[in-house]
Amino acid sequence: MDRSTRQLLSGDVIVTMNAAGQVFSPGVVVIEGTRILHVGAEGSWAPQGGETVVDCRGCLLMPGLVNVHTHACMALFRGLGEKRSRQQWVAASYAPPYMERAVPADFYWGTMLGGLEMLTNGITCTADRFSHMALIAEAFDRLGMRAVLCHTLRDITGAPEWEEALALVQRWGTSPQSRIHCGIGPHAPDTCSDDLLHQVRRVAGETGGRIFIHCAQSEAEVTALRARGHAGAVRCLAAAGVLGPDLVAAHCIYVDEEELRLLADSGSWVAHCPVSNARIEGRMPPVGQMLRHGVKLALGTDWAVSNNTMDLFDEMKCAGVLDKVAAGDPAVLPSAALLRMATVEGARALGLEAHTGSLEPGKAADVIALARDGLHLEPWHDIPAALVYSAKGRDVRHVWVDGRQLVRDGRPTHVDVGALRKEIDQIVRRIMDPGLPYST
Ligand SMILES: [Zn+2]
Repeated sequence: MDRSTRQLLSGDVIVTMNAAGQVFSPGVVVIEGTRILHVGAEGSWAPQGGETVVDCRGCLLMPGLVNVHTHACMALFRGLGEKRSRQQWVAASYAPPYMERAVPADFYWGTMLGGLEMLTNGITCTADRFSHMALIAEAFDRLGMRAVLCHTLRDITGAPEWEEALALVQRWGTSPQSRIHCGIGPHAPDTCSDDLLHQVRRVAGETGGRIFIHCAQSEAEVTALRARGHAGAVRCLAAAGVLGPDLVAAHCIYVDEEELRLLADSGSWVAHCPVSNARIEGRMPPVGQMLRHGVKLALGTDWAVSNNTMDLFDEMKCAGVLDKVAAGDPAVLPSAALLRMATVEGARALGLEAHTGSLEPGKAADVIALARDGLHLEPWHDIPAALVYSAKGRDVRHVWVDGRQLVRDGRPTHVDVGALRKEIDQIVRRIMDPGLPYST
């Protein structure tokens, strides 16, 4: 490798998130091409000439954050649906108000907006699923983010869109080596028949794609499944053979002890989305019990409709606060555990532990630099506590994915934000046209 492709990042603090929990202060991260070559204390790397030195003094360097559940395109509908009850969300099949007015190209621009928001907040890797995924994949590719994408499958209202789902897999593959790759995305147990869920497991086996599903998000979902002869949403997935270490199940609010055991024994992942759970359902999953059973947890922002941002720093804080209250135990989810959920555990949930989630030689150079000088961060007595409870996405100054710097001084290096705003403006004006009938 040509040394001129080497970048030497020097920072005040390097939080590696490796298995030993190493922190170097001050330290360096050396990137060669798309990969991390070296991580260590200041002076541990002898410059060999030709490296591009990136001065990150005043910053903390850490791995890019991993968001295991969202629908980025729905950033277009941020702030709508505020007046809905949980029953109204279910009745609308979770479609936000005005969504019927969107045309396919809007989903591309919505993803550019949501994806860029994530990137500038330090999220370098995300799982995303919706419809119009061919366009959405193009947007994530243009953004330079790492993404695992699925086309949503359901058969409660019509035939499942297998053609689109498989075309996406055909186009982008399922290899975790590829920055953009695909999984299989059944919508939820109550919107997919048992037959469809069986097919999903078979196709996942054939393609090597991981499975992403919503699960036990509402009482109405569990009631519908009882009418189908399943005692719960997780039990329904177990009966179809869908549970397993390659499954990421979002929400899992309404689950009983037996279902927690099924999730833990199968090695399935829960995508914990605390803000969305609070704002749509007013409930938290039983995280305290999940942890006692050994259920694996990672963190998702879910969409901006019910969050209303996609900022994993915020999400870590909300998870910490809400789950302590839900469990009646302030010891639940200490800061270090929350930080792992947003980094290494997120990477494991997506099958990407060999590629991202920590700063280690050989992994992809997915790195963020967080400015340390905010008054809300001073003084730095406890690094995990500072990152979970004090830091915000807006503290992120620089972002690299695969060694490519995508954010410099808080601004994207590769997207014209002014032009993006104009596109979004036009779409919003059309969608919100008061002269047209609309849903609420
Ligand atoms: Zn979702």
